[in-house]
Amino acid sequence: MNSDMESCIKIVKELKRKGTINAYVLTGAGISRASNIPTFRGEDGLWEKYNFEEVATIDAWLKNPTKIWTFYAEGIDLILNAKPNPAHESITKLQDHGFCKYIITQNIDSLHQKAGSKDVLEIHGNITRIRCMKCNEKQIYTEPPKEIPPMCKCGGMLRPDVVLFNEQLPHELINKAFDIAKKADLVFIVGTSAEVVPAATLPYISKKNGAKIIIFNKEKTEHVQIADCFIAGKCEESLPKFLNMLLNQ
Ligand code: NAD
Repeated sequence: MNSDMESCIKIVKELKRKGTINAYVLTGAGISRASNIPTFRGEDGLWEKYNFEEVATIDAWLKNPTKIWTFYAEGIDLILNAKPNPAHESITKLQDHGFCKYIITQNIDSLHQKAGSKDVLEIHGNITRIRCMKCNEKQIYTEPPKEIPPMCKCGGMLRPDVVLFNEQLPHELINKAFDIAKKADLVFIVGTSAEVVPAATLPYISKKNGAKIIIFNKEKTEHVQIADCFIAGKCEESLPKFLNMLLNQ
């Protein structure tokens, strides 16, 4: 496995020389850290402050929705005010220049879309979208809920349209993600701990089908076992550098 920018550029340019690149980016909470959204794991991660079983599982939700809504309302406020950072912007430029087609994100913060990226698969949902647990109607929040727990006009309770721990992912979306993973020849993995499945399994499927794997992360994760290149450091610094070298060399 290489760990320098030049080797990354070489891999990408070699694929480009052979024809169109069929790449996707898999992102996780680390890419939004510089936009002031805490990660789950790692330094200052939310799981150092909260017990995830008490705030992020479907069982906890059903037991005490008010408590969980208080946690999510804070998140909604933070995310509505967050702005994309240079890492999100670099991915949009990678897409614009034909170096990647899809973004498969575990994030629930809309920052790829705010940065202008297209074809974003939000496999864990979006915290600003809410749905009624009774009539299933969906709405988009532009400000945090005023009452906790917020209720739908049909009398049902509203919940953020995100995938909680121990819940199934939306079938259509995850099937599309698996399909993209099977067909890809290049994968960029950015800011994910590789601990949440099935998202973490996607790069293994791509590798098995011959794809090259490039990782941008602060620290090594399980995915380094299959990586062709690992670029250590903050992705809001390394991705713009990588893009600049790729476009100007
Ligand atoms: P995670 O919290 O498990 O891991 C974050 C990873 O990013 C770690 O490996 C960490 O070392 C790395 N990292 C931290 N700062 C970085 C930086 N500046 N540059 C590069 N890497 C950095 O996150 P995950 O793997 O996405 O998985 C857990 C779940 O977190 C997902 O289901 C997701 O829905 C949820 N989540 C999302 C958000 C968000 O939407 N922004 C925030 C917190 C958690």
